[in-house]
Amino acid sequence: MPPVIGISSFKDSKPHKDYVTVSQNYVRSILMAGGLPLVLPVVTDPILAEGYLELIDGLLLTGGDEAVSPLLYGENPIPEVQLLYPERDAFEIDLCRKAMERDLPLLGVCRGHQTMNVAMGGTLYQDLFTQRPNTLGHLPVKMPVDTLYHTVEIEEDTLLAEIFNAGELHVNSYHHQAVRDVAPPFRVTALATDGVIEAMEAPDKTFALGVQWHPEDLTVKHPQFMNLFKAFVSASGSAT
Ligand code: MN
Repeated sequence: MPPVIGISSFKDSKPHKDYVTVSQNYVRSILMAGGLPLVLPVVTDPILAEGYLELIDGLLLTGGDEAVSPLLYGENPIPEVQLLYPERDAFEIDLCRKAMERDLPLLGVCRGHQTMNVAMGGTLYQDLFTQRPNTLGHLPVKMPVDTLYHTVEIEEDTLLAEIFNAGELHVNSYHHQAVRDVAPPFRVTALATDGVIEAMEAPDKTFALGVQWHPEDLTVKHPQFMNLFKAFVSASGSAT
């Protein structure tokens, strides 16, 4: 049995119906890494979230357009925060805390990486461009998602450096928020040249890693990003 990877999803409201949805690129990247993807719909009962954790060997917290609610890190929203999804926040924070408790392998992408930080007590920039001076470009909206846009510097002696066997990467970037104060279980493992936090990991856990970019959109055109999914699925396999 391949490692079962739970992939968080969201509700997509169309004019006549709501759909459970997530980018196929996460599913494809997990399949390419030898995992068995299992899409997890948002549920509000913590007992059901517990049930999901019994089924999976690794947890992938995905991206999304909704901001993690600033209320969850003690702030009120600035005007640039336009879209929230409190049920998704509650579900994913619950999953994340329980995964950390159990040392279940955990990969957070973009919003998922931010969720991991908030779940463990950290804070976010609600909007980099208004709250942080000298921020470079992080949200080029007119580019295909597999375009490499900015560099990140990877810290030495980290899981991330080992995974990519590199000190610098070119990555895509689709965010206007970012991790601000890093929650204690994590350390920063990659920065953009403007100092924006682009990755973090928990050194005390088997595999608990967040990235601010979107590796799942790069795995076909830039196969080195498969290293991340292979390492995650492999850690999920050895934990079972
Ligand atoms: Mn970026």
